[in-house]
Amino acid sequence: MHIIRFRDPAGIVRRGRLEDSTVRFGDSTYSMDEIDVLAPCEPTKIVCVGRNYADHAAERGKTVPDRPLLFLKPPNTVASHRSTVTLPAGKQRVDWEAELAVVIGQQCRNVPLEAAMDVVEGYTCLNDISNRDDQDREQNWVRGKAFDNAAPMGPVVATPDELAEDARIELRVNGETKQHSRIDQFFFSVPELIAEITTHLTLEAGDVISTGTPAGVGPLSDGDHLEIEIEGIGTLEHDVQTPDTK
Ligand code: MG
Repeated sequence: MHIIRFRDPAGIVRRGRLEDSTVRFGDSTYSMDEIDVLAPCEPTKIVCVGRNYADHAAERGKTVPDRPLLFLKPPNTVASHRSTVTLPAGKQRVDWEAELAVVIGQQCRNVPLEAAMDVVEGYTCLNDISNRDDQDREQNWVRGKAFDNAAPMGPVVATPDELAEDARIELRVNGETKQHSRIDQFFFSVPELIAEITTHLTLEAGDVISTGTPAGVGPLSDGDHLEIEIEGIGTLEHDVQTPDTK
């Protein structure tokens, strides 16, 4: 099942189902053109995992850590499918990072490894947009990772049955493939991440764990059109603009 959060033509926020290209809520149906697609959930926090693919760690000149490298993106980072993200001003390098994101279905803490999938509502696509100019200069990645709209996500939450263990993940910029991998290339699995994270903090329904990016990151430019496609979920699309500094 693909769960879509949207604003209907009357302006009411709904959570319905996306079936083919038809959106269903109760006995109402809408085409995608009739609705505004909203971010698929409203996280109180996004817990991000760094360097969870060995090939990306290598391209950043790092090794895979011996435990998950964690950082946070706050709710101001959320941006929706089909949005236009304004990049931080005056930066040389702000990168794309295609990631599989886990959407949590219930409040949880201290989740054992074997029960971790019980707290997963489903999966979505996320772009962990990263301001390298500042990320490389600060210990806590506030300027680097937590600026407004630094986490476009969507378009839907796909329930776990929709996702193959080796689902393909691909990022395209203006139609050109830049990242291409499979999610079985993770170093730390989704259950391992949930168990580790909830040892330290409570996750709420709608919170997100973003599982790291494969190799192929690169710099965003004004006017770029991004597509992040994960097999079994769909394609998140958004645009990018640089601030008008005139
Ligand atoms: Mg990342």
